[in-house]
Amino acid sequence: MSELKCVHCGAPLPEPKEGEEYVTCEFCGYTNRVKDSTTYMEQLKLEIQSWLKSIVPANIISAGSAVDAVSRHNIFITMIKPDLLSKHLEVNSRIAHVISTPLVFLPYWDVHLNVDIDSPKEAFEEAAKIESVKPLAVVDEDAAFVNKVIAAQYMYAYFSNFVHLVNSGKKDPELLSNNFKKIAEAFDGVPSGEAPKLRFEGLYHIYAAIEDMMNGDTETANIHIKSGKDSLKRAKEAAVKNPEYVPMVPAIEKELSLTAAIEKLIEGLSATMDPTEPLARLKTFFSASERARKSLAEKYRMDSKDFGRYTDIMGEIRNILLAKSGTPAINLVGSPRRLLLPFWRIQLTYTFTTGSLFWKKGKAITDELLILATIPYATQPITDIFKMKPKGGMLDGFLGKEIAMTTGYIKELASSSRPSSVSAGTTVIPPMITNEEAKLFSDWYIRNVTQRTNNKVKFGVSRLMGIVYLGAEIHGDDVYIPELKEFQVSVRGHLENLKTAAL
Ligand SMILES: [Zn+2]
Repeated sequence: MSELKCVHCGAPLPEPKEGEEYVTCEFCGYTNRVKDSTTYMEQLKLEIQSWLKSIVPANIISAGSAVDAVSRHNIFITMIKPDLLSKHLEVNSRIAHVISTPLVFLPYWDVHLNVDIDSPKEAFEEAAKIESVKPLAVVDEDAAFVNKVIAAQYMYAYFSNFVHLVNSGKKDPELLSNNFKKIAEAFDGVPSGEAPKLRFEGLYHIYAAIEDMMNGDTETANIHIKSGKDSLKRAKEAAVKNPEYVPMVPAIEKELSLTAAIEKLIEGLSATMDPTEPLARLKTFFSASERARKSLAEKYRMDSKDFGRYTDIMGEIRNILLAKSGTPAINLVGSPRRLLLPFWRIQLTYTFTTGSLFWKKGKAITDELLILATIPYATQPITDIFKMKPKGGMLDGFLGKEIAMTTGYIKELASSSRPSSVSAGTTVIPPMITNEEAKLFSDWYIRNVTQRTNNKVKFGVSRLMGIVYLGAEIHGDDVYIPELKEFQVSVRGHLENLKTAAL
């Protein structure tokens, strides 16, 4: 035990350079004074010795290798193994819990992993204790058992480091990546541990890609993200075939979809001249959208806890970055303006009862809604198409001549969208709600219309039609969108939040 360990997390430290006073931990980022770490090692050694004395007779320890192999084997079997085995089972069950959780996050996200795990320092100290019983495991079978327990304990300790970094908000991707590299290595000794080994190699690459991306090195990021994706795919194939690791499959699937989303982000950033500026905007976008995510859960009781909701949103961020670099990648309605707002298109089908008692008949009509995708940063997010009744006198209603309850204007407008690029200086707000969330708002609108028309209007299935952008003008503390005409939306009170979310 000559190597130094980190006084903060307990992980092994790199060899300090000749004459250097400090050494930084590669797993938690703490800068250790060599002197402090040396003192810590001395204390740890004493602690381990007294622990060992508490379980093994003193004469055995002092006699060391003079004690014959049979006695040492017996001591191992009776005094050490039962204790190690119960600890090992406990650690394995905690590891099983961690690995059934998706573990890909962007550092911008507000993550809390709800897992039961010791502090990394306790976990690494436990590993050092277990290492100290190695001389007593003389028979091959005992030695193999101890090695297995040590490997699992180290793996657990690196997992603990990952969990504590994420939960304390210190999501430096380089540190996260280093911990996964060690976890993947620890699975080397695990029989049929191919699936977790591949998965954690994948996560090592994915966090390395995030690190490169955030440093603006999109080329290296791209290499890492592709390796990460490839490892995760192979991990999934291996896990499906191995009952022990089948519970990992749903987590790997979520990680794969988030990895694909990160790949899109990297692709979008690669298209820009200098990724530094969009990266800074991305950071403020995610801080606004993280507040939005919480508000959706609290205010609208939406299940927005799952980070998988960001996959579509990140795809749209890629499209915006591409469009600003000259590729026709976003669907634009009307003329481009300096500010573009995102809308979800939703197709509605409805029938309505018309005419008097004798002429009642149902007519199926198709129209569209536009839902401003910046919710919760919106006061009136829905184009209220049932607000305006199409032209026609009262007599038409009486005679059953009403042709529709809506004008069809929004449907016509939305279907005029075309793939476009925009000038680099355009302010584009990415969507902050997913298609499923937009659908919930549309369902709410449908219920509202059904009520206010006293069930005269009955709705059929509604269909999501993708995202379009409309150019907005800023009028005072709100926006005005010329193309929407009388179907205006409103963001009064939210303009500042929207500006921080803009790309
Ligand atoms: Zn450390």
